[in-house]
Parts: sequence; structure tokens; C-alpha cells
Amino acid sequence: MKRSISHQFQAYRPLLRKNRSSLRRFLTRLSKNSPRGLDARIRSLEPGVWKTVDCLSCANCCISMTPTYTITDRRRIARYLGLTVAAFQKKYLRQERGGDRDWLNRSRPCPFLNRSDNKCRIYSVRPADCAGFPHLRKRFADYAHVHHQNVEECQATFELVRRLQASLAHRLK
Ligand code: SF4
Ligand code: SF4
Repeated sequence: MKRSISHQFQAYRPLLRKNRSSLRRFLTRLSKNSPRGLDARIRSLEPGVWKTVDCLSCANCCISMTPTYTITDRRRIARYLGLTVAAFQKKYLRQERGGDRDWLNRSRPCPFLNRSDNKCRIYSVRPADCAGFPHLRKRFADYAHVHHQNVEECQATFELVRRLQASLAHRLK
């Protein structure tokens, strides 16, 4: 029987919606006034997050978002699929008209998501953006705006920010 795609995410959604404003306010506050040792604190909380989140039962990032594909990504993935870069781009991607003119998925869910088990069909050569997502180990100052956006879309981000808020409650009163 086919697994229900993102069943776990759907179950989580009400909790995310209920807490998003509070967590976003907290992130804004942290961005303006980061306590010392913030990145070390995040690193210490992150392993616990992955004990409660199962990405293969979620896949919301692959379903509702798109990675950006650098030229290195496009060359690597095209080679893996036996396509030229031009053919790969034409078949799967579109280029943004404005902004950074990033290369993005043409459709959602991502065409490389295997809908029967939520696994990535190009996992070994997936875009660097996917490999680093949800960027919890990156410097907070550089990724606060990303967490702000993802706190409602990614359970792992939500869990990390919620734990961070609880761990700093006594210092941010
Ligand atoms: S390339 Fe793979 S990991 Fe990245 S969004 Fe698509 S299915 Fe998900
Ligand atoms: S990274 Fe976040 S959105 Fe993506 S599958 Fe894992 S928990 Fe879900």
C-alpha cells in the first residue's frame, strides 16, 4: 500500500500554526540581540531535534518547496541522469526572471521525490541546497531569516526554535 505522503507533516501543522507567531517574534528578537554562545547552544540542541523528527515521514520540503540548483549541481545531476545540462534544465527546471535568476524546480512536488517512500531518486547527487537543508548547523546570524520562513514549513526547524526558546526563557525575560 502506498504510504500517505507527508502524513506526519499534516498532523504537525496545527501545532506549527499555533506557535508560529511566538516563534517568529522570538527569532526576530534573537537576531537583534543574540546572547553569547548562541551557535554553540544551537549545536547542542540539534541532535535532540533529529530524535523526534523523521524526514522520510514528512518530506514537506520536497513537496512544497524547491531547492536552487547551482551550475555545479546542474552539471553533476545532468551527468548522473545521462543528459546534457541544457536538456536537464529544459526537462526539469525553470529560471527565475528577476532577482538572482536562480534555477528552480519547474514543478512541485520535486520531480525527483519518489512518492511511494519519500526517498530522493537522486540522493547521491542532490543539490547542495537539499544536502544542507534545513541549515540548522549554519551560523544563526546568516540563517535567521531562513528559520523565520521555515518555522511553519519544517518540523525540524520548528523543534529547534521551540527548544531554543525554552532554553533561553530565563535569559530573555
Ligand atoms: S532533489 Fe531530492 S532532496 Fe532535493 S527536493 Fe528533490 S527529492 Fe527532495
Ligand atoms: S527537513 Fe524539515 S521539511 Fe524537510 S523532511 Fe525534514 S522535517 Fe520535513
